[in-house]
Amino acid sequence: MTTPEETAALKQEILACNGWLSSHGYFGTLRGTGGNVSVRSGDDAFLITPSSLSYDEMTAEDLCLLDFDLNVRAGARRPSVEAGLHAAVYRKRPEIRAIVHTHQPFASVFALINRPVPALFDEVAFKLGEQVEIISYALSGSPELAANVAARMDNHAHAYIIQNHGALLLGADLAEAWLNAELLEKACQVYACALSTGAPVSPLPEAVRNVIRDTRRFLREEKLKTLSGNRSG
Ligand SMILES: [Zn+2]
Repeated sequence: MTTPEETAALKQEILACNGWLSSHGYFGTLRGTGGNVSVRSGDDAFLITPSSLSYDEMTAEDLCLLDFDLNVRAGARRPSVEAGLHAAVYRKRPEIRAIVHTHQPFASVFALINRPVPALFDEVAFKLGEQVEIISYALSGSPELAANVAARMDNHAHAYIIQNHGALLLGADLAEAWLNAELLEKACQVYACALSTGAPVSPLPEAVRNVIRDTRRFLREEKLKTLSGNRSG
């Protein structure tokens, strides 16, 4: 259960994250309403930003509480059209408690050339996973897009690029998903610049990639053990 105080704190965190992402260009425009943010609330619901409301005007009362079948539990606004995509992630990845969906510019470059972004810096690989994969295109807000997202979750990464659309960042909490958006943008900006030189791009050594993969797997398994302990306890 999430207490009213915890819910109020989560809502303030969502508003702060939204404001930062919007004012730093992560939603694609400074004046539009693209992108969306959600946080898991308890085991079977999530708080998400509403549809078509400017981030300057958004207040805690505008956030929507939905279950994973998209039934509205609280909030008078229409939820983000991408709520189904968020629910698909929460269903497939119990260790994920926050999701940021952006239209950030440099990640969008790779959404257009339909090319995965390899982890070329160890701190990026550690946070995002070994490779940022491309999720196949489907119309924004469609059940097909939610299904395409769900189908990609098995690599346990914390960042994805949606073909011809934008980016999807996951975290154990909102601070992590938010930081991952910034890390992905940095990685994509530098990778795009490196590719534009025409020079070969130096990969991380395989031994380092293996250490990072093993560490990420260990941390995920520990988190899942803690979660199942909390549920049964
Ligand atoms: Zn979008």
